[in-house]
Amino acid sequence: MKNIPSIAKTGPQPQKLAALRQAHRDWNESPDVLSRLTRRLSTTLSLEHQLAILAEEVANVVPFDALNYRHHIGGTEFVYASGMGGPHSCDYRLNLEGEHYGTLSLRRRQRFTEQELEGIELMLSATICPVRNACKFIAIEQAALTDSLTGVPNKRAMEQSLQQACQLSDRHGDQYSLILCDLDHFKAVNDNYGHVVGDHLLKLAARELERAVRTSDSVFRFGGEEFAVLLPHTAEQDARDVADRIRRNIATIVVNCGDTNVSVTASCGVAMRLVDETSDQWVTRADEALYRAKDHGRDCTRVFASIC
Ligand code: GH3
Ligand code: MG
Ligand code: MG
Repeated sequence: MKNIPSIAKTGPQPQKLAALRQAHRDWNESPDVLSRLTRRLSTTLSLEHQLAILAEEVANVVPFDALNYRHHIGGTEFVYASGMGGPHSCDYRLNLEGEHYGTLSLRRRQRFTEQELEGIELMLSATICPVRNACKFIAIEQAALTDSLTGVPNKRAMEQSLQQACQLSDRHGDQYSLILCDLDHFKAVNDNYGHVVGDHLLKLAARELERAVRTSDSVFRFGGEEFAVLLPHTAEQDARDVADRIRRNIATIVVNCGDTNVSVTASCGVAMRLVDETSDQWVTRADEALYRAKDHGRDCTRVFASIC
């Protein structure tokens, strides 16, 4: 067994504490640009906020007209742009420990001098670690909201989006519709052809759902073989048309398994959000419509009519 050194139970050490207090004061009050930049960057994990801080602090040292940053993070393009460009630019690839964390460029009407470039680079070197952390934070947040099999947003993302839609709908009176789409007899697909084929079909179904909707609509996988689509600015009749298009698209999927071709149909339930309705009540009505579609023999769409 290892000997663990005993911790001496001494009282406070006034000199050390005083030095610590002084260091804390120095850190907080130090007026130099690099300390202030580092201090400010350490207060946020938001990449957008960090870039705004960097732009402000660089502008104190090197005048520029525009700062642009771009990075592909976890499947989406993050773009930050402030100001209008000029003909001269200095461009940087932000790299740390072999990993890439985006490209950043400054633009203006006059050339950048060597001294100015050195100043910018010193400031960027103080920024790269916080930017790395912010990029990783975005990637983790995205992963937490994404279904790993199909790559579409998951149930958690759906809950967030529905709540946001309820708030926007209450504030602006916009119409929102929800489609729940459930693959028919999917258990039989797994039982007859195996989970690998089932998983493959789920991926193809997600792709067909995305192909059937507009870019302003959102597709979610919120259960095993259950998908949802949120349609802003859409009343129930238009949502029904989209649901039918989704079903037609899904019916075109064919997976070849040796001597058989496997295909699948889907049932859809549609509900338009009612005034003052909670997201749970809204989903429950769409689910009720889906239940009716299943009850009617599947491979069809049912709408929970908002006006009886
Ligand atoms: P219904 O038409 O009534 O919806 O019948 P169903 O068989 O589709 O519905 P049920 O709820 O009985 O079964 C759903 C099946 O979906 C069960 C499970 O095998 C399958 N499933 C759920 N998640 C996954 C998944 O991630 N991968 C695969 N391959 N199958 C899944
Ligand atoms: Mg099903
Ligand atoms: Mg189901």
